[in-house]
Amino acid sequence: MNPLVHTPAVALRRLAATSLIAAALLLPAAAAARQPQPPAPPASGPTLAVVHELEQQGRVDPEQAVARLQRLLPLAPAGGPERVELLTVLGLIHGARREAAQVHGVVEQLEALGGAAARAAALVVHAGLDYFSGDLSRAEPQLAQALALLPADAPLQGRFRVLYQLTEIQTGRGRIEQALASAHQAIRVADGSGVALLRSRARSQLAYVLLRGGQLQRAHDLSREAVALAPTDAERSSARQVEAMVLARRNDARGEREATLDALQLARRAGWRSQEGLMLGNLADSYLARGEYETARRHAAQALVIARELKDTPSESLALTNLGLAEIGLKRLEAGRAHIERALSIERNAGARAEEAEVLDEMGAALERAGDWAGAIDAYHRLRELQDAMAQTSRQRALLEMQERFDNERRARELALLQREGQLHDAQLQAQVRHRWLWAAVALACGLALTLVIVLARRLRHANRRLMDSNARLRQQAGCDPLTGLANRRFAHEVLQRQAGASFEGTLMLIDLDHFKRINDTAGHAAGDAVLVEAGRRLHDTLREGDQLARWGGEEFLIAVQPALQPEQAEQLAERLLHRLGDTPVVLASHTLRLTASIGFASFPPPAEGERLAVPWERALRLVDGLMYAAKARGRNRACGLKALRLPGAAGLARAETALDDAERRGELVLAEIAGPT
Ligand code: GH3
Ligand code: MG
Ligand code: MG
Repeated sequence: MNPLVHTPAVALRRLAATSLIAAALLLPAAAAARQPQPPAPPASGPTLAVVHELEQQGRVDPEQAVARLQRLLPLAPAGGPERVELLTVLGLIHGARREAAQVHGVVEQLEALGGAAARAAALVVHAGLDYFSGDLSRAEPQLAQALALLPADAPLQGRFRVLYQLTEIQTGRGRIEQALASAHQAIRVADGSGVALLRSRARSQLAYVLLRGGQLQRAHDLSREAVALAPTDAERSSARQVEAMVLARRNDARGEREATLDALQLARRAGWRSQEGLMLGNLADSYLARGEYETARRHAAQALVIARELKDTPSESLALTNLGLAEIGLKRLEAGRAHIERALSIERNAGARAEEAEVLDEMGAALERAGDWAGAIDAYHRLRELQDAMAQTSRQRALLEMQERFDNERRARELALLQREGQLHDAQLQAQVRHRWLWAAVALACGLALTLVIVLARRLRHANRRLMDSNARLRQQAGCDPLTGLANRRFAHEVLQRQAGASFEGTLMLIDLDHFKRINDTAGHAAGDAVLVEAGRRLHDTLREGDQLARWGGEEFLIAVQPALQPEQAEQLAERLLHRLGDTPVVLASHTLRLTASIGFASFPPPAEGERLAVPWERALRLVDGLMYAAKARGRNRACGLKALRLPGAAGLARAETALDDAERRGELVLAEIAGPT
């Protein structure tokens, strides 16, 4: 699967599970012998230490932990901190399992206790449920309130828990500065408690926030501290995992591998099966990315055993996919395909179509690498069909949601504008707003996406890599390309569909960066990303307001200008775009890169003699796609546009679509060719 294993959202989720239910201290038999034994509960009732031990157990064996907590509950005195802490831990474990009824029961019990500590705890428990249900924006204020309510003498473990959770949520919401402040506070509390587990965990968390904030050196130092402090194998495994993420971001592939292997060994020693499976999956991914198929296969096979043992179907599907990709890499195509088909049927049964699409995509790429063109084409074909079906069903729902939210916002904005500008501009403003609402909705969708992202992320909590992909996908599904901030393909699709359906009218330009792979290969993927962002910015700056720009694919951008430009205007725009992209090199920290692109463009209705041809947008796209390829074939760094069709009607269009060069040679159409900067 995709080599970008370690991703913020994922790790965050992983850490979340780690934090809220805390690390494994109570371990299965073999490991338990090497760990300190939990103190036996005194007959008079549970001590805080016992409650906190059970909090740790909740991660490895939540059922057992809940059973023991419930047995201890009647023994905890009503006025004491033990009862509050016990109910908090119980409520959080239920929350992590999204057992809403149980959570509400616990919240009621806490509220009935009265007092600031219990009220704070009720908020924490409730926020936990919101958090695990993906509603971060609801969880955050509750935690902030809980923090304010906590009495000065509240148990440090409890205060740490709130701060940890708050940091998670702020990071998840991209509020990195606030997250940093909370994480530092958590470290102070952890250090004050002297509990090694908390001290280690607080450092892992801060390392992660710093990673998100791009401070890689400090992130690395802290992750090392966390490893050194971790008192148990399980905790060390978590800490090494965060370290691996930091190393991955620093492009230290070897270090990343070592840390992940170590995390794997530690998870094994701790008897922590789900972590073991996760690390095996990450390793399989990274071996696949390096083309070490036999090793990848072995790791994937082990991950599969664990996924099945834990009845964890998303992980099972991931392992099957990795196994299949490895087999295909080893040129055992039949076996490989069989594994992947099983993965596909798991995703299909789960209704996880985005995942299904991803698997198909990866299968196609693997078959292509293995030289099985027919198989690859078949996979891509299935992918295309699935994507079309997805676009169909999601279209209405997503648009309705966006529309509704946008309407509210628009009303507010219009009102503000009217007040400011005076009633005179009323009509003008309304027209403007209406004209641009769809594109503005993209920005809105980006915000909306966060919630969706979290919900999906939670559902797929098992596979680091996949979570990242899902996040990106969800953002994409909401219309926004997470990297460039431009509209994404899906959104552009929807707009074209709505506006154009049977007849697209306007000028379309498809821009594909030249030799982009080389940029990735020489300067690294992160540099490639930066170049994409910069390219998007340059294109955007060249366009007028009202022109529509989307990231159409990896390094492809689509521009739609409506109404259609005159031929010479379109050529000028193409030329401007080529120059804007290519005149000034892109300067990155480590490299200075020259950027060129190939552009295909055409205006619709097409410049045919006689009748006015109605061209559906799909065909319009196919045409500019062909023109873009013609620009590539003619040497790149140029634009190819359709100037005139000399054959009447549909026949001319069909020739242009299917046999561009041939048609040009025969004079059936005229192309414009514009060279980019030299
Ligand atoms: P050509 O001139 O023929 O267009 O060559 P190319 O290398 O640009 O074309 P190709 O389509 O073969 O490769 C596109 C590359 O873009 C492959 C893929 O790894 C890379 N890519 C796609 N999406 C992203 C992305 O989001 N970030 C980065 N860094 N690279 C990406
Ligand atoms: Mg391309
Ligand atoms: Mg390209």
